[in-house]
Amino acid sequence: MKITGIKYWQVDLPLREGRYSWSNGNFVEVFDSTVVAVETDAGITGYAECCPLGSAYLPAYALGVRSGLAELGPKVIGLDPRDLGTLNRHMDAVLRGHPYVKAPIDIACWDILGKATGLPVYKLLGGAAQDKIALYRAISQESPQAMAAKIAGYRREGYTKFQLKVGGNADTDILRIHETRAILDAGDILVADANTGWTRAEAARIAAAVANVDVYIEQPCMTYEECLSVRRRTVRPFVLDEVIGDIGGLMKALADDAMDIINLKISKVGGLTKARLMRDICVASGTPMTIEDTWGGDIVTATIAHLARSTPEEFCFSATDFNSYGTVTIAAGAPQRVDGFMTASDAPGLGITPHLEVLGQPAGVIQ
Ligand SMILES: [Mg+2]
Repeated sequence: MKITGIKYWQVDLPLREGRYSWSNGNFVEVFDSTVVAVETDAGITGYAECCPLGSAYLPAYALGVRSGLAELGPKVIGLDPRDLGTLNRHMDAVLRGHPYVKAPIDIACWDILGKATGLPVYKLLGGAAQDKIALYRAISQESPQAMAAKIAGYRREGYTKFQLKVGGNADTDILRIHETRAILDAGDILVADANTGWTRAEAARIAAAVANVDVYIEQPCMTYEECLSVRRRTVRPFVLDEVIGDIGGLMKALADDAMDIINLKISKVGGLTKARLMRDICVASGTPMTIEDTWGGDIVTATIAHLARSTPEEFCFSATDFNSYGTVTIAAGAPQRVDGFMTASDAPGLGITPHLEVLGQPAGVIQ
């Protein structure tokens, strides 16, 4: 089987809440997502989606996905999409860096492998390790009272895990953590994700102020070294996200005992092939994960579900149903949240069918 062409579409994903705000005044109102189709000479087409969280979150941005596909796409024509190791080594050889550009090609080829073998992707990633994937809800940065009210509402929808967007004014962030934890039950999970927004001094103050609060601290500062400094001063469980972008970063962080949990975003690390390796290293080293992506719609949500379903429950700290945050449905067959959980489809591949009428004309065609 050979890759014969790649098409990609731009699609806007407006938010139900209107705006998603995080550290340092960053926000997005309409996500710019890219849906990718990898076509083959066997008549099988694989699909994937890549949606950076704006341009200020990681070294990634929406136009970069499509520019990168125009650069990389012609260089994978003729490869066998089922040879995922070979495909990934080739992509790394012909385009240095840019893992988020490679991710949708890799993921679409997993979709092809599943369709070619008649198996759902989670079977190919290790098999069903859990059927119900616990989800967290991200709580956009607002006043402490507004964030507590949002949590109360999402709790009524079945979520029991919440990720607070902090990384703002330190005193307000302390209030955000106290006021939201106060409305939760003992078994509920609260993560305070600063998204690199605190200095070490701010993080040290906040960690001390919430030392006796049942909260996880995620990615307090910009650099790995700053986060490690804070990690060594806090008793709270500690999550790293933005600074863990590849296997080397994960290995170093494990050797340094730099975190208790990592946030594994599939496009951040280059796709399912690399995310699976990092997932397996995390399981082998006893490191739970939040399994998710930078953002997206139905196809990203399906991809998350397959990796999470093949991950043992005790190592799957949480996952995300991004398709419930937006107002636009871009594919049939995607996971639908029930009482704070989702699962991955048993249909071959990712189990999704894009709504081509929603996607419209392709933004790019490579043959
Ligand atoms: Mg995070």
